[in-house]
Amino acid sequence: MGNLATTPMVRGAWVGKCPACGTCCFFSRFPPTDYAGQQVVRPGTFNSVSVPCSCGRRFQTDGDYLLFVTIASLSIQRSSPDSFAVEQSYAGTKTDLGPMSETELWRYLNSRTLINIIPSQVLTFLNVGNALDVDMVLSVVRSAAADPQLACS
Ligand SMILES: [Zn+2]
Repeated sequence: MGNLATTPMVRGAWVGKCPACGTCCFFSRFPPTDYAGQQVVRPGTFNSVSVPCSCGRRFQTDGDYLLFVTIASLSIQRSSPDSFAVEQSYAGTKTDLGPMSETELWRYLNSRTLINIIPSQVLTFLNVGNALDVDMVLSVVRSAAADPQLACS
């Protein structure tokens, strides 16, 4: 077992997943908390709500559809007109993912599960501002008890 005093904390949260685009979203009543590998208990009193996703669609979710995920943050900084410095932070550790062209960044973002933002919004933002921090799912600790695919068909 690791020493809790020196084990860097990971952020974890219950999120909903949009069945249309796969992006996850936070709920204000489940803010990210420190996660040190403890058992997570599915919130039992979360009634069905309609969630607006960043992709423009809405989806219905309740406690059974929520997933508990660990969260990494991604710092993206434009370093030249077609080059971005990308750094991932997780559990107090920063990993330099190297310079990426816009095409590489686009591919990278689409291969990940972002939270509260979709890849096209990231690129749109970077065309205006020069730097952006986004949250993304690093791993799923508890998957949905119900299958979100059933809800969207
Ligand atoms: Zn969506």
